[in-house]
Amino acid sequence: MRESRWRTWAGTVGCAPARTVRPTGEEEIVRAVRKAARDGLSVRAAGTGHSFNRLVPTSGVLVDLTGYTGIVALDTAAGEVTVRAGTRFTELCAALHRRGMALPNIGTLAEQTVAGALSTGNHGTGLRHTALSGGVTRVRLVTADGSVRTVGPQDEAEPGLWGAVRCGLGTLGILSTVTLRCVPQFRLRMQLASERLDALLERFGDWAAGSEHPSLNWLPWSDQVTVRSVDRTCEAATPGAGLRRLTATLDEVRCGLTGQVARLAGAEAVPRLTARLGGLWPDGPYVDAGHRVFTFVQPVRFLAMEHALPLERTPEALRELRTVLRQLGVYSPYSVLVRVGAADDVALSPAYGRQTGYVNLTVPRAAGQVEILRAAEPVLRAFGARPHWGKAHTATAEVLAPRYPRWEEFQRVRSRLDPGGMFTGPYTDTVLGPVPAPEPAVAGR
Ligand SMILES: Cc1cc2nc3c(=O)[nH]c(=O)nc-3n(C[C@H](O)[C@H](O)[C@H](O)COP(=O)(O)OP(=O)(O)OC[C@H]3O[C@@H](n4cnc5c(N)ncnc54)[C@H](O)[C@@H]3O)c2cc1C
Repeated sequence: MRESRWRTWAGTVGCAPARTVRPTGEEEIVRAVRKAARDGLSVRAAGTGHSFNRLVPTSGVLVDLTGYTGIVALDTAAGEVTVRAGTRFTELCAALHRRGMALPNIGTLAEQTVAGALSTGNHGTGLRHTALSGGVTRVRLVTADGSVRTVGPQDEAEPGLWGAVRCGLGTLGILSTVTLRCVPQFRLRMQLASERLDALLERFGDWAAGSEHPSLNWLPWSDQVTVRSVDRTCEAATPGAGLRRLTATLDEVRCGLTGQVARLAGAEAVPRLTARLGGLWPDGPYVDAGHRVFTFVQPVRFLAMEHALPLERTPEALRELRTVLRQLGVYSPYSVLVRVGAADDVALSPAYGRQTGYVNLTVPRAAGQVEILRAAEPVLRAFGARPHWGKAHTATAEVLAPRYPRWEEFQRVRSRLDPGGMFTGPYTDTVLGPVPAPEPAVAGR
């Protein structure tokens, strides 16, 4: 009998796996993989399901890692922390904070697992910071043959594995533990400013380099953008900083409500409703512990699409996006979010080999709003964009392969580690293609 359905956080997709395993130890992951191999079942790992697409769903074995949590080791002198794969950032950041340490940069979501985030190229913002993958120093991976290997930068037994394993979409095996760099804890000061979009796009490179963690929010019918600068400070935490942080959550609730009203009133009503309901709560600068400034509680379900562009092409892409979205005339209550990141060396990282501008569009889950994503995707793709692996997109392996210089290397690693395609599903076949046949051994080697 099939087990009850698993669903993504957003409720966008789900599945009814043949069986669900909830390991609490590495040996249980190994047993689950070996048993799946004996039963001829495919295996997909699941974190908290904060990816929006069909990456996790399987008709085989779902290995739900959310009960496999906690810190295995913390070396404050070396600045390294090892966590079990299902540990959520909220738990990790709080534990590090208690020991005077912190992760140097994270995205806006604290509820996801470390392994799920790593496997989809998760990132925060800042040109001096890579995506999460850049801060990983080693992992333990359970592979299709049921063995466990420790993989790090010095790993030469399997060429290309280190470059592949830090963003593998769950196709190379199941990450058991992840070791991350951590730093002494720090406080951040967040401040907002408003600027004309055109003026900001003229000085985009300087803007991107001007704050340690810059981001901008732009409502496409408006000519103004909200610029968010987040920088380290020695100032004390602002009294009531927790309430200030709530502003972002309240804003998401407002967007959710606006989306509901727009279902009845029509999408044309979105700019009017936003003007009426926006700015109801104070948005001043504040100082707080780093992890509390990076993240905020996100209770409202939505759908998001994000693309990673070459940094220098991002202003041009935003101008084109403005034209296309205004022609469409359907607006989302959520602003377009622009973030930036450093280049990295991870084979399938959307930021591979180039400084990156990330352009994120969020829409309510209502059917008409998906039109916005459909209109935006080809615009971004034309500027060399690589989609976020965990968010909505329609790119197939044919579209994606030429965008990743180390694509073939990733595929070779995959075919050596998982020749039978145990860690695949219909969706990974779409975005990566089926596992290629292993290369024949060269005589004499
Ligand atoms: C509200 C919200 C905010 C977000 N904010 C950001 C953001 O600021 N920046 C950003 O980059 N992204 C963001 N995302 C996207 C999110 O970070 C990713 O989709 C991430 O995958 C979610 O982690 P998860 O634990 O939910 O993983 P899941 O969605 O459960 O899994 C994602 C992938 O990871 C694989 N996986 C999970 N665990 C393992 C494991 N142990 N071993 C191997 N593979 C594994 C799965 O097989 C799957 O392929 C956001 C998403 C939401 C819904």
